[in-house]
Amino acid sequence: MRGTMMDYPLTLAHLFERNRLLFGQREVVTRLSDKSLHRYTMAAFSRRAQRLAAALQKAGLRKGDRVGTMMWNTYAHLECYFGVPLAGGVFHTLNFRLHPTDIEYIANHAEDRFIFVDDVLLPLLEPVRAKLKAERVFVVSLTGKPIPPGYEDYEAFLGNAPEAPSPVELNENDAAGMCYTSGTTGKPKGVAYSHRSIVLHTLVAGQTDAIAVSGRDTMLIVVPMFHVNSWGLPFCGIMHGAKMVLPGPHLDALSLLDLMEREKVNFAAGVPTIWLGLLHALDKEPGRWALQPGLRTFVGGSAAPEGLIRGLDKHGVKVIHAWGMTEMSPLGTVGRVKPTLEQQSDDLLYELRAKQGMPNVFVDMRVVNEQGVAPWDGKTMGELQVRGPFIAACYFADDSQKDKWTADGWFITGDVATIDPEGYMKLTDRTKDLIKSGGEWISSVDLENALMGHPSVKEATVIAVAHPKWDERPLAVIVLKEGATPEPKAFREFLAAKFAKFWVPDGYAFVPEIPKNPAGKFLKSKLRDQFADWTWGEPE
Ligand code: ADP
Repeated sequence: MRGTMMDYPLTLAHLFERNRLLFGQREVVTRLSDKSLHRYTMAAFSRRAQRLAAALQKAGLRKGDRVGTMMWNTYAHLECYFGVPLAGGVFHTLNFRLHPTDIEYIANHAEDRFIFVDDVLLPLLEPVRAKLKAERVFVVSLTGKPIPPGYEDYEAFLGNAPEAPSPVELNENDAAGMCYTSGTTGKPKGVAYSHRSIVLHTLVAGQTDAIAVSGRDTMLIVVPMFHVNSWGLPFCGIMHGAKMVLPGPHLDALSLLDLMEREKVNFAAGVPTIWLGLLHALDKEPGRWALQPGLRTFVGGSAAPEGLIRGLDKHGVKVIHAWGMTEMSPLGTVGRVKPTLEQQSDDLLYELRAKQGMPNVFVDMRVVNEQGVAPWDGKTMGELQVRGPFIAACYFADDSQKDKWTADGWFITGDVATIDPEGYMKLTDRTKDLIKSGGEWISSVDLENALMGHPSVKEATVIAVAHPKWDERPLAVIVLKEGATPEPKAFREFLAAKFAKFWVPDGYAFVPEIPKNPAGKFLKSKLRDQFADWTWGEPE
């Protein structure tokens, strides 16, 4: 027997319309290049997104056509997030921190027909413009300067369009957005999010026990809009009518803290490197910024070290740790403490909050190793696999990666993890970053999180380096805080108090900076190359 309910498509058009009807007075605030603030109401946002949709239709956009965006987190980028799908198109966020030849590959592989770009980012597109298949490139002026010849003005494009697009029949399984993974190995791979997957992800992500988004919130979205749709937050913000604050090109700690104070931000999201910078600034000048009581930060993309969670707590900022992937829309787990676990000691609670967390609604999760599916015992490590309605079933126009999915339909994440009896997943490594020493696995993540809790350490990472006896041994690569002295012996003792002897790195390298990928994650592959010839002295 079939259910008797309506077959109502889950589309972004509904989220948009809900916002348009209900939340017109809420604000979207953007920091522009000169640091001034651009602000408008959501009513203005909806009018402009509709005009954008109409303009794209007038320009000949057909259903399913891709439209690239190469933009900072701004009001215009938000307009593209909705204007493109409202016209039946697919917004495709381009990661402008990649090399221009990668951008060229990605834009052409996706067959972007039109591209929107911020004027300040134009120099990154210019070198490959002639090789792009895109028919037209529209420029958003964040500086107020005129648009250079050869490019079209975004404002004129909107200005010459009808007020609203012709209605488009959207199927919930139609693609709405697209994002390529950074591609640490091989070519970047495209993930096409459907209307349905984005809507389901938005409903799940916003739940109180997930990242809890409410219409009362003022959200500062630091995680780039080119990075898995800013973890889906713009959709949450629009659906709930939260005030949205977008930092534009200014991501340094002082600018962000200033914006948080000024706009009364109570919810902010970004990768750990952003929060480490903020923590550093807050520690240096405690009390300088009047932050909102109950301010929460949604931290993911790489592990939030326990020291970061503790440190921000001291400043009244609550970290919500989450794990996910581009292929997962991205939210897989959230590190919330269950009420039945709240009675534990502070130390255990911090340890729990530093885990990646429990699976979200509609995320099935399992750990698999040579013995089969691992028990939830918090000890047995294996490859993490996931399944669910907002997890990719394949890559866009690329069938070279079929081995990333199991025969029974699970996505193989490439992460190595344990799951404890309470259902908390703890990521121990990326498969490719694990260190195998004398046949035993060592988790680089655990070591670096511990090191980042050391008072002299600003940033630290641990990599595998070939070793004549042990095959591989861990090498700690450390950025010291200002004025701290490089003391390998002290670090070794610090770690020896917490880890098995064979886990403790024998080597310590001190560097001014750790190379990072566009998402702020440590580029371990680069460090492995840099330290490939490291000579292992006698442990001091
Ligand atoms: P995102 O950075 O948004 O999560 P990516 O697809 O760029 O998405 O990267 C996914 C990978 O990043 C994961 O497979 C995992 O290795 C790492 N990662 C993401 N979140 C965390 C986290 N909270 N802790 C540790 N690693 C994480």
